[in-house]
Amino acid sequence: MQAFVMNGIGETGMSEKDRPQPGPNDAILKPTVALICTSDVHTVHGAIGERENLTLGHEAVGVVDEVGSEVERFSEGDRVVVGAITPEWGSPAAQDGHPSQSGGALGGWKFANEKDGVFAEYAHVNEADANLAHIPDGVTDEEAVYVCDMLSTGFAGAENAEIPMGGTVAVFAQGPVGLMATKGARLQGAGRVIAVESVPERQELAREYGADEIVDFEAVDPVERIHELTDGEGVDAAIEALGSEETLADCLAVTKPGGTVSNVGYYGEGETVDIPREAWGVGMAEKDIVTDLCPGGSVRLGRLLRLIDAGRVDPTHMTTHEFDFENIDEAFELMASKEDGVIKPLVRF
Ligand code: ZN
Repeated sequence: MQAFVMNGIGETGMSEKDRPQPGPNDAILKPTVALICTSDVHTVHGAIGERENLTLGHEAVGVVDEVGSEVERFSEGDRVVVGAITPEWGSPAAQDGHPSQSGGALGGWKFANEKDGVFAEYAHVNEADANLAHIPDGVTDEEAVYVCDMLSTGFAGAENAEIPMGGTVAVFAQGPVGLMATKGARLQGAGRVIAVESVPERQELAREYGADEIVDFEAVDPVERIHELTDGEGVDAAIEALGSEETLADCLAVTKPGGTVSNVGYYGEGETVDIPREAWGVGMAEKDIVTDLCPGGSVRLGRLLRLIDAGRVDPTHMTTHEFDFENIDEAFELMASKEDGVIKPLVRF
């Protein structure tokens, strides 16, 4: 089968591989639609170290091609979504309520990290009963593929932000995760959502997904502007959806004492991430910084699919480009360059 792989830092290409085989609890997925993620770009640029002939990709839906002998809930031909994160559900971390960290820090992240990812004609899914979800008839593959990571991660940013009903939220960066954090904040009952973004197309989508105010950080100082918008009080919660030290500092500066900074940004560079001492209230202003890695699992995927099925969110407006699998290198380069107004490039198999 053909797979799109990383061949050392900065190198990608097509590779001929054997079709994977399922263990007793596993499944083999035949992808139909996938999305390129900025974290795939981080991976190729060396964020998690050297990898050779590693299949990229962690956002895909498709059809079950084969199941292991112990799989009960899925069978060949089922239309399914697989989470970007596929935890080991019996692990101590999962039993403690942190399945994404099963098997060590970020250990639930297996695709295109510990094992081959989904940019291939076939992909291996561990613990299929727990890591796959059936796609409802009313949801298309092109919609469903957004629950793998973008809805799960973006909404986790809003869920972890502990937004009081009617509360104020600032969402820093309106890439696909930030846009879904904006939508998630609205669904969580925020009374005012302030989106920080400079790119016009992203500003427009942010409004569509529920932002009440847009702060263009290239035109104004976002910290000053958010304090103005909140009568000097600051927001109940800030969501970091970029992964930059500067943005994290701004999140702390705009969050009121007792509030929450919810981080879903991926800090892909550098040795340290500095926290500004005064903005953090010298460590004593009860400004919590909470972090998350995309939550996975069949139950959560099913809930996210229900939101699409019920018309609460239409993620497809983030699909700016489409490519066939044989041209996936072009999709990847587009995501790396961030040119042509790209938000999410979709790949068809
Ligand atoms: Zn992703």
